[in-house]
Amino acid sequence: MSYLNEGYFTAGLESDPELESAIKGELKRQQDGIELIASENIVSRLVLEAQGSVMTNKTVEGLPYARYYGGAEFADAIESLAVKRACELFGCRFANAQPHSGSNANAGVFLGLLKVGDTILSMNTAAGGHISHGHPATLTGRDYRIVNYGVNRETELLDYDEIRDLALKNQPKMIIAGGSAYARTINFETLRKIADEVGAYLMVDMAHFAGLVATGLHPHPFPHAHVVTTTTYKSLRGARGGLALWNDEALSKKINFGIFPGVQGSVMLHIVAGKAASLGEALKPEFKVYNQAVLDNAQALAKGLSEADVRIVGGGTDTGLMLVDLAAHNVTGEIVAKALEHAGLAVNKNQIPFDTRPPEAPSGLRLSSNAGTARGFGTAEFQTIARWIERVIRNHSDEATITAVRGEVLDLCRKYPIY
Ligand SMILES: *Cc1c(COP(=O)(O)O)cnc(C)c1O
Repeated sequence: MSYLNEGYFTAGLESDPELESAIKGELKRQQDGIELIASENIVSRLVLEAQGSVMTNKTVEGLPYARYYGGAEFADAIESLAVKRACELFGCRFANAQPHSGSNANAGVFLGLLKVGDTILSMNTAAGGHISHGHPATLTGRDYRIVNYGVNRETELLDYDEIRDLALKNQPKMIIAGGSAYARTINFETLRKIADEVGAYLMVDMAHFAGLVATGLHPHPFPHAHVVTTTTYKSLRGARGGLALWNDEALSKKINFGIFPGVQGSVMLHIVAGKAASLGEALKPEFKVYNQAVLDNAQALAKGLSEADVRIVGGGTDTGLMLVDLAAHNVTGEIVAKALEHAGLAVNKNQIPFDTRPPEAPSGLRLSSNAGTARGFGTAEFQTIARWIERVIRNHSDEATITAVRGEVLDLCRKYPIY
């Protein structure tokens, strides 16, 4: 008698029809719709295979070649490959490839470099900051004293004088740059000067522009940042997780210990294998071509929308993402996002700076060119997407318009198949 289900080592998804049908449904949703959500991308078959590999079975704790478990020969090879590639890609000396997510990378860095009660100066989530930078609802928001900066009301851009004033007044131990809905270039040099004035660490969270940094299409956070964190699955177009990067050897022990055992246990080696795979892809010349297209496409989308009198917050984009202001159209992001979803265009509702509406029904939408570019769209396709979005905004409760756009979206998707 075998202890195992029939086909345990040989049968795949087909042996669990209920699960198979949901995963196949998701594949079809991705194939037949256009993904404009900024925290998403489309990975290669290579990355999917690495993430689904037998590394799932292996447990290790600690760093490569210094593990608490045996049998780590290949685990060490994989994790050190990910670390080596991350350092090469971002031109830095040290990397930790273990964070299970971007939030964990941040929490691990905080735990390693700060003490409970220390002050962190970070961007307000209402202005485009990320919740993992100390939102009151999170563990980090509870353990540290959080002071927030926003954007200038007129320009909707970072106001470095305001950041400096807040830093001088509040004496933070860490200043964080980067957010999830800020589309313009950040001046890391100025922020480092402010950090030095008050003796704070500068941490840059480049989740939404890491691919551009890697390919020289966005100013580099190094040498200005003491530590840089990122997710690996947004603009880096890779496995699901996070990275921490730094140059000063004196920080190594603190950051590594902040991540493990600070906020995490054993390593998700299958994910680290996926990170190694995607970082390998990012080191190839094609990744620069892809990122140039991400930028060109985002600008084509922003221009198309602006020309149709759909306002882009902050006047445009220097990254793959942008925020759209719907206030002048008298409709919420909630309603338009739903209508767009029915039309086959996936976006997320988002607050805009100084939004008078609540997060559940905000005035804005957040869009990104990352995933559409990964499936091969160029500027012409993104101009078309701008026209579809405008049509849906203006006719958000008209079934016929939404059905018509859905058909056109499907035709375009069929021309650019994935998987
Ligand atoms: C997405 C994002 C994160 C968090 O990533 P998770 O993997 O969801 O934890 C952190 N910081 C920024 C700026 C992000 O955009």
